[in-house]
Amino acid sequence: MFDLDQIPVPDLSDPNFAPFWEGTRKHELKIQKCGGCETHRWPPRITCRNCRSTEVEWVAVDPRGTLYTFTTVGRPTAKGFSSTPYTVGFIALDSVVNVRIIGNVVDVDSAAVKIGMSLSARFVPAGPNDEMTLIHWSPTSVGA
Ligand SMILES: [Zn+2]
Repeated sequence: MFDLDQIPVPDLSDPNFAPFWEGTRKHELKIQKCGGCETHRWPPRITCRNCRSTEVEWVAVDPRGTLYTFTTVGRPTAKGFSSTPYTVGFIALDSVVNVRIIGNVVDVDSAAVKIGMSLSARFVPAGPNDEMTLIHWSPTSVGA
């Protein structure tokens, strides 16, 4: 579906995202958790929107969620995404409140994607030398 070896690799050592990439490499979804009020947040920020604390830790969270909204891309837009159609979703994590993450919705026909469907993370190597691991979202099988 995707030519993931063609995807441009971001700066994996960027301190704002390095813990995320280290997590995905180990098949974990890691996001920030405020050291002041314990609010989870994504994307990473220096200060907490809730309490303004700069204390932060990175925690692994359950990589399952619910499709909040999505779009289906019908025309190739970027290197690595030449095979269309594909679906990009905004996934609300089930285990933490108010955290949504963007990712490709896979293993389901674009026409069958529905808001509210249960999705689970799938960790896939990407980049010319598999130097990063992306999270794709796949329908959660019944009983999983
Ligand atoms: Zn806070």
